[in-house]
Amino acid sequence: MADIIDGKAIAAKTRARIAEEVKQLKEKGITPGLAVVLVGEDPASRVYVAMKEKACQELGMFSDEHKLPAETGEDVLLALIDRLNSDPRIHGILVQLPLPKHINTDKVLEAISPKKDVDGFHPYNVGRLVVGKPTFQPCTPYGVMVMLKETGVNLAGKEVVVVGRSNIVGKPVALMCLHEHATVTICHSRTRDLPGKVRQADVVIAAVGQPEMIKGDWIKEGAVVIDVGVNRVGEKKLVGDVEFAAASQRASAITPVPGGVGPMTITMLMYNTMQSAKQTLNEA
Ligand code: NDP
Repeated sequence: MADIIDGKAIAAKTRARIAEEVKQLKEKGITPGLAVVLVGEDPASRVYVAMKEKACQELGMFSDEHKLPAETGEDVLLALIDRLNSDPRIHGILVQLPLPKHINTDKVLEAISPKKDVDGFHPYNVGRLVVGKPTFQPCTPYGVMVMLKETGVNLAGKEVVVVGRSNIVGKPVALMCLHEHATVTICHSRTRDLPGKVRQADVVIAAVGQPEMIKGDWIKEGAVVIDVGVNRVGEKKLVGDVEFAAASQRASAITPVPGGVGPMTITMLMYNTMQSAKQTLNEA
């Protein structure tokens, strides 16, 4: 039976470290500040924004929320980002996705100063991640890496299979594993023989968005399974991309859904914002 990788506990431990660093920064006169921009009324986005605000408050950080109506023009949003880029109280800018269809998401993300891009989505920071330079690492994949480290998994020489190739999760997590010297295979909807690929993996990272599509009997005996997927089944139940019960019989360690990767994402956003504030101290 697999050990459960407790995302809530690892997030709490990481947040305690962030709170300590925030305290030290405040003693030096800097309060890390995160601006969160929400356009429209998407219910899930509203929940995420509220969680980010709460996390800021709990960690003693400054939270600057901008809730704009769905019909907000792209020019208005770009002007707001421009102001936030030059506001010294703000160390991180997060534009909650998805944006309404009339707004060009790439243009908005590229308008954020790379120095305040705590989501790590700006092409400048993505490029730095590719070449292995220090950068803001995207929060969900970064959370996955912290969880692996806290679980004592050494990736050097391991076979890692990432299922999913999105810019938000699959691609960056694959790069991060590569930087940790794993041999990485990235799978997607056109991959042939997905079960065969997963069966080779010492570490499986699932970021697909399909409820329990990775079957328990695909998991190699003793593998580590990180399930990024969050899928709503019926009214209330959440499940991951991996068939948890069956996979737990074979894996050595596995993340649950909920309570696995989820709590790490906002934690790493707070971490990146704190780091950005710290950076301004170094630049002063
Ligand atoms: P995307 O929809 O952007 O990407 C999904 C990926 O899965 C694509 O690369 C797609 O392939 C691949 N895929 C889809 N179906 C299959 C299949 N049958 N076999 C193999 N590959 C397949 O999703 P995201 O990366 O944004 O998110 C993935 C999951 O992670 C979602 O459940 C999301 O809710 C969750 N998530 C959780 C977060 C957290 O904080 N816990 C944060 C972000 C995401 P192709 O490219 O060929 O289409």
